[in-house]
Amino acid sequence: KNSMEVEFLVHKFGQNERLIVVRDISRLSKLEQMRKDFVANVSHELRTPLTVLRGYLETLEDADNIPPVWNKALSHMQSQAGRMTSLINDLITLSRLETDEKEHGQEVVSLVTLADMVAEDARQISTESKHLISVNGPKEAFIYGREQELRSAISNLVFNAINYTPSEGIILIDIAQGPDGTTVSVSDNGDGIDPKHIPRLTERFYRVDPGRSVNSGGTGLGLAIVKHVLLRHNAELTIKSTPGRGSEFICYFPPARSAAKPLKHSA
Ligand code: ADP
Repeated sequence: KNSMEVEFLVHKFGQNERLIVVRDISRLSKLEQMRKDFVANVSHELRTPLTVLRGYLETLEDADNIPPVWNKALSHMQSQAGRMTSLINDLITLSRLETDEKEHGQEVVSLVTLADMVAEDARQISTESKHLISVNGPKEAFIYGREQELRSAISNLVFNAINYTPSEGIILIDIAQGPDGTTVSVSDNGDGIDPKHIPRLTERFYRVDPGRSVNSGGTGLGLAIVKHVLLRHNAELTIKSTPGRGSEFICYFPPARSAAKPLKHSA
């Protein structure tokens, strides 16, 4: 009941001297847990009334004889309610990533199938903007992981690439697997990012241009979700970008994550 959580900091002096600082972080981690629970509860509590509101808005939009000014107001209300729904869904996703047991639900995931599915979804929403979205890499590449989480990470990267790349831009999902590990990289030839922003991009709600992000339907949580998914897979995210030329988001999975083709698929 009175267990204590401690943090060790070791300072090295010269050859043989060490200063070891032991810090009691029980209170800090209790507060951190309270914060996580609070965000998870608030997000869940907000979802139900929002669903009800959206339902009523739809009923009103379908009604006959609505004055034109109402129509405009209703469609604004719908789109704002839609934004709030995306925000709440992303907050719930993040909360789950922070609290769910890391070792649960591990399976062999086909990265090529996953990338193809994400690319197909992305093509559906970018028919007007005419982005070219393609998947490059080996015929097959498998890793141990949680498929839904990995799909949401790759989706977030690809949808960002679409949002921050002008029409007819090129978006590539590159997969590579070898003895040194596996990489999935998503690159675009879009706006690019000033290097000074790169270290902060995975923070919640950090945006280079908030107006731009909101207009494109962003919640400001996409890269935070990507970071957490990768952390849970012992993977790392590297961001390379040149303003005006484009960006590359590289997810690196260590060799221990590589998996063989599952038997059920080999028939
Ligand atoms: P958002 O919902 O705002 O896109 P993200 O967490 O997904 O939130 O991304 C954070 C910020 O990083 C974005 O607001 C944008 O400024 C920048 N960003 C992300 N992906 C790209 C990209 N492919 N090209 C240029 N900027 C990007």
